[in-house]
Amino acid sequence: MSNEHSTPKFDTLAVRAGNIRSDHGEHSEALFLTSSYVFASAEEAAARFDGSKPGNVYSRYTNPTVQCFEERLAALEGGEKAVATSSGMAAILSTVLGLLKSGDAIVTSQSLFGTSNVLFTKYAHNFGVSTTFVPLADLSAWEAAITPATKLFFVESPSNPLGELVDIAALATLAHKHGILLAVDNCFCTPAQQLPLALGADLVIHSATKYIDGQGRTLGGAVVGSAVLINEILGVVRTCGPTMSPFNAWVFLKGLETLRIRMTAHAQNALALAQWLEQQPNVLAVHYTGLKSHPQYELACRQQSGFGGVLSFEVEGGREAAWRFINATQLLSITANLGDTKSTITHPGSTTHGRLSPEAKVLARISEGLIRIAVGLEDIDDLKADCARGFAALA
Ligand SMILES: *Cc1c(COP(=O)(O)O)cnc(C)c1O
Repeated sequence: MSNEHSTPKFDTLAVRAGNIRSDHGEHSEALFLTSSYVFASAEEAAARFDGSKPGNVYSRYTNPTVQCFEERLAALEGGEKAVATSSGMAAILSTVLGLLKSGDAIVTSQSLFGTSNVLFTKYAHNFGVSTTFVPLADLSAWEAAITPATKLFFVESPSNPLGELVDIAALATLAHKHGILLAVDNCFCTPAQQLPLALGADLVIHSATKYIDGQGRTLGGAVVGSAVLINEILGVVRTCGPTMSPFNAWVFLKGLETLRIRMTAHAQNALALAQWLEQQPNVLAVHYTGLKSHPQYELACRQQSGFGGVLSFEVEGGREAAWRFINATQLLSITANLGDTKSTITHPGSTTHGRLSPEAKVLARISEGLIRIAVGLEDIDDLKADCARGFAALA
């Protein structure tokens, strides 16, 4: 080795970081299915509970398998610390509960995962936290939305399902000028293709359910950032209980080991399918950040090292045509999940974004003819052939 002190690179961290080996010497990470831990004495129990002695206490907030996942994800995102949660939504909720209080305000974008939109407008609102929605890419709109109450900027970049972007570094600069925290939902690119903390974001949020699992099996989430911020969110997890199960953490650990190679393959398939879709009749638009026709293609090349596996496109004829297309496919799974090896197809307007008001749908540009495909790892020729069935049904 040329430099024995060099820090391990991404692919090494993905396989090795956080590994805790027990006295049994197991090579694969152990799965600690235990809710509590035994102490040697009453004195030790007291010291572990009050934190004066390190060690596991209770799996609502300390579990070796979950800790291994947290350390590995933090290493991959380049963050100081991570906290795992039971789902992606639990990660967002725990962030809001941990860092905001009644009277505070959030600014987020109109292009947002539908459930995140409902979390902010209904549930955070019920506890006195208000949310303003702005067009994702429009930095002057972000600035204009700031009030003295604003504590958090929350973005998805690329956004679901249109793949819109914001200049994360510029938004971080704006946020910090006003003492505001920037959280980035990094679900679509994952740390394999985008590192928001390096671009200046304070927190990275994940639905581990998606590409981190990568095979559509388990739900989970995580938040990564500085120890100071993550400890606040860990307090919520410890007290309120949106905890990741050790079994799920073990599945996600295995997922992280192959994350980068899978993301490369997802993105390669997605680009090939997006380019093919652009050539098809009845297609009004194709949305994929890897296409040169994407209005923010240059920004995508600058802040991402890959383009993810999700694309969407609009067919002529509105909902009726979109549903006809979806129903004519045979290989693609009609399901709203994404990040699976199996390609999935969904109609955002009546599923993931179905709970949005008609006005919010217009602002989010969720048209009735919009179809989203989360491109999996099947052979690209078979994916094209399946989409050709959809187009045949529109002819
Ligand atoms: C799925 C998803 C979430 C929510 O994650 P869950 O694990 O389903 O709770 C949040 N953000 C984005 C972008 C998602 O795709």
